[in-house]
Amino acid sequence: DVRHGPILYLEDVTVSFDGFKAINDLNLTIDDGELRCIIGPNGAGKTTMMDIITGKTRPDSGKVWFGSRHDLLAMNEPQIASLGIGRKFQKPTVFEALTVFENLELAMAADKRILPTLTARMNGEIRDRIDEVLKTIGLAELRVRQAGILSHGQKQWLEIGMLLMQRPRLLLVDEPVAGMTEQEMERTAELLTGLAGKQSVVVVEHDMGFVRSIARKVTVLHQGSVLAEGSMDQVSSDPRVVEVYLGA
Ligand code: ADP
Repeated sequence: DVRHGPILYLEDVTVSFDGFKAINDLNLTIDDGELRCIIGPNGAGKTTMMDIITGKTRPDSGKVWFGSRHDLLAMNEPQIASLGIGRKFQKPTVFEALTVFENLELAMAADKRILPTLTARMNGEIRDRIDEVLKTIGLAELRVRQAGILSHGQKQWLEIGMLLMQRPRLLLVDEPVAGMTEQEMERTAELLTGLAGKQSVVVVEHDMGFVRSIARKVTVLHQGSVLAEGSMDQVSSDPRVVEVYLGA
């Protein structure tokens, strides 16, 4: 499917905490269907940037648009989420006492948009959607197992699956491979690259090997602005980027 234009657009965004500019004239464009990695040293503003996109933090100035129609600064957190912006935090928060299947079911029911039409027909559709998501996240075999017995990696995939239940248009993913084994990292790379195209994915990640393995385009944040942007080869050979990482 051919897509046009940016799905997310930040222009001259600035956020200060007690006079300190955590985000300083940030400009960022994410294309529809893109998989973008955001890297940068601690304190670069990566978390604050995600908080701005989801409406958790309000900038002092600038513009934040979702597609060409939605001014995110005019909306609150639930309104922004309902546009199809999902966020995966670093620590998995699945319901350990429930099965994998029930976790996905619950994630669907949490979508207020479908509650009024929760008929028998919809239940069939929900089951189909769960099957589809189970396949995507590679947990089809574990559907009736309790989430509490899953490995760390499997819990992370389940949580991504819970976000996918609501068919997000943009997924924000915070350090997906922290604490994962090599094998789990490879599987996560496949999962995230497979998701891109169907939706846009923005990944904040510290593991440079992982970033290299998934990213077509990397944005380097430093002191609240974009220091460099391009392929991993381009940014990692940029003397300014080298300096920031060696100096950190
Ligand atoms: P990163 O995620 O890249 O490590 P953050 O966005 O967490 O960076 O932080 C950017 C800067 O803003 C840091 O210097 C941090 O201390 C500061 N900061 C973030 N949130 C707050 C806050 N709520 N109050 C004060 N300072 C903050």
